[in-house]
Amino acid sequence: MRELIICYLGEMALKGLNKNTFEAQLMKTIRRRLRNCGQFKYYKAQSTFYIEPENEDCDIDTAFEKVKKIFGIAAVSKAAVVEKDFEVIAQTAVEYLGETLKNAKTFKVSAKRADKKFGMTSPEISRELGGRILSRYHHLKVDVNNPEVNVMVEIRDYGAYIHGGKEQGAGGMPVSTSGKGALMLSGGIDSPVAAYMMAKRGMKIMAVHFASPPYTSERARQKVITLCEKMKEYTGDINLHIVPFTVPQEYIRDNGVPELFTVLMRRSMMRITEKIAEEEGAEAIITGESLAQVASQTLRAIRATDLSVEMPILRPVIGMDKNEITEIARKIDTFETSILPYEDCCTIFTPSHPKTKPSLEEILEAEKNMDMEVLTKLEMEAMAETEKVFVNI
Ligand code: ATP
Ligand code: MG
Repeated sequence: MRELIICYLGEMALKGLNKNTFEAQLMKTIRRRLRNCGQFKYYKAQSTFYIEPENEDCDIDTAFEKVKKIFGIAAVSKAAVVEKDFEVIAQTAVEYLGETLKNAKTFKVSAKRADKKFGMTSPEISRELGGRILSRYHHLKVDVNNPEVNVMVEIRDYGAYIHGGKEQGAGGMPVSTSGKGALMLSGGIDSPVAAYMMAKRGMKIMAVHFASPPYTSERARQKVITLCEKMKEYTGDINLHIVPFTVPQEYIRDNGVPELFTVLMRRSMMRITEKIAEEEGAEAIITGESLAQVASQTLRAIRATDLSVEMPILRPVIGMDKNEITEIARKIDTFETSILPYEDCCTIFTPSHPKTKPSLEEILEAEKNMDMEVLTKLEMEAMAETEKVFVNI
């Protein structure tokens, strides 16, 4: 029996003229993500993608799990495919879903006939097949409203597909159809979630991490790489840039206004991130800031950081509570890594009494007194020393 994966495309099916571009990008992504699962044949019909093993060596179960994490796919199913002949369909359904049906109490059959040339209507298929299943598995009852198993038969262009129901896909838009964003990646809970959310809207993600050795450790650096390894399951390949930020940070500590340290440092990080983003062809900066979560995330501080760069700063978790963000972090499996207690550069040198509502004038004044020429030079030097880590899918 032939088994394959069916991907039902999401909202991109509605995108009219762009549809072909979106579908081509999605197909490219799927091929890349599954490239270590074996040789598959990929084809599409009517906004549905089919992924079919070419030989015995294919790992269809792993492929199925991977496909569930690809944005742009609304639902997925693993199905048996047979010729469009009712006898064959019925026999296959009884066998292919045998284990599932044995362990269930209720079921229903949903038939969908996309190929109108098929000799039976959808209700006829459902009725007939329902009867066959009942006569084979006597313990089963039909429940059309809330069945444990939904036996689905889809009569489509290339064949008849039989499966035990669709599973939810990752939704959203295919990665790389909405431009590229530079994620500011700390070791915390929020920034990986921010990356997930923007990737879901079709952004390709690259990441920038600021490290301040020896104040921050090798383990903190490794943690950020591990986070990228987890995120890539959803975002695809990530180019991670690790900026050695110690010298600019010490300069700000020694020459800036202590109460404004955090916001001055964040403006410096933004400037560097924007330059790296430009070099890498990214058009936006992404952060994991959430309003009022900490002192540096007041509206005033946010405005002050916004004005340090020209690029738009996207903050997808700005209106979310910590527990809502945490829920996503658990879902994408970054949470356990994020809570490892290593020092982040943002938590060193922080003043005991930071100003929560700094005015822009104060900040600009502080920067003027700091000798921005020197700081800019130090920022450039840090940027030149950036370590690049390619985290490939
Ligand atoms: P997170 O959980 O993402 O670390 P947080 O609640 O700890 O966020 P902050 O430390 O104020 O909040 O950081 C806010 C945002 O600034 C982060 O979400 C991230 O986008 C960025 N950021 C913080 N530290 C770094 C860093 N070391 N390198 C790159 N970006 C950083
Ligand atoms: Mg943090």
